[in-house]
Amino acid sequence: MSTSPDFALAPLLEAFIPVDRDLTTAGVVVALEHAPTPPVSPTVYGGMLYARIRLIGQAVGNLGIDIAHSPSQQTLNLADQTQDYVLETPWREGRAAVWPVCVEGHGHPMKALLESDWRAPFWCCPRDASIRLLIGTHPGRPPRGTDLAP
Ligand SMILES: [Zn+2]
Repeated sequence: MSTSPDFALAPLLEAFIPVDRDLTTAGVVVALEHAPTPPVSPTVYGGMLYARIRLIGQAVGNLGIDIAHSPSQQTLNLADQTQDYVLETPWREGRAAVWPVCVEGHGHPMKALLESDWRAPFWCCPRDASIRLLIGTHPGRPPRGTDLAP
């Protein structure tokens, strides 16, 4: 990941680290750059922090976090937003992007979740809740037994 050096972005970059790891493992090149907070009413956008996200060199949109949220919530929100961009961006010719891939035989992407008994957000199979692994530990290929969280 390459970024513009912007101290104000630090919380967002920190929360993005596990998401970036899973993108990198899957071969998706991502870069974040500063996106100014929309110059609108602070009662609506106050406390939000934004960064423009590039996938394979193409600016695809903005990621945003609420700086009042916990780091785990921020990572969850960034994973969710990033996944939307990856799935919507035709970044490989003639091939629909599935990110992150689920186990062998499942054609769907995994879904980002956070539960109260989990300290960190995780990717979960949308059909089988027992198939899950922490965000930041996805192997980039269909996960197998030893990849999965206990
Ligand atoms: Zn699945």
